[in-house]
Amino acid sequence: MSRTTALVLAALVSTMASSVVQGQSSPPADSAPASPTSLVAVNRTLQASLDRIGARSALWREAADAARQNGRQAVILTPDQVVVADSAGRRVRAFDPGVLAEVAPVPRPDSEVRVVLVVVNLPLLEALHDRQRSLPGEFHADLDRIIVHEVYGHAMPYLLAGDLTGRCPDPQPGQRASDACAIQRENAVRAELGLGRRNDYSLQSLWLARREWR
Ligand SMILES: [Zn+2]
Repeated sequence: MSRTTALVLAALVSTMASSVVQGQSSPPADSAPASPTSLVAVNRTLQASLDRIGARSALWREAADAARQNGRQAVILTPDQVVVADSAGRRVRAFDPGVLAEVAPVPRPDSEVRVVLVVVNLPLLEALHDRQRSLPGEFHADLDRIIVHEVYGHAMPYLLAGDLTGRCPDPQPGQRASDACAIQRENAVRAELGLGRRNDYSLQSLWLARREWR
């Protein structure tokens, strides 16, 4: 996602976040008050996934609480909730429809990161599972794996660092997947959830891949 796109998205996010942060007196402009929650999702399927993970992962709850106390938030969206206009006001596509998920930190002018966007391509994941005639539990487990990777692997490190130094990368060329920052974090939470261990950077560790690409 380009920097321009991310900045435009910031306006959307601040609107969403302000609807979540309620009942607070106006804080000084340079300090972020603790938020009621550090994980915001409007979509019910995404919210249910956040709830499932939070109920069973102490690592997840600890990170979410630290971000909340700093007034920082991950906003989890579906692609249709990402509305971006170009300089002429035309609606432009901001999300590659062939990608399952994407993370975009939204730095402020002073370079602090208080918001990270996480876009999860639910329509694509649902279509892939429909094709495999998955059971609901198999779909939910794959959704949770994706959200653990994107939110705990990528978004939380930005929120905990408070700036772009929190970048937690995927495997670099030549690096073992299990040595990469994002995969190590993902595997720690997967272990708590009983969702298997990820040893590669392809989609092989998702349930749907077992039939699709075996
Ligand atoms: Zn990743």
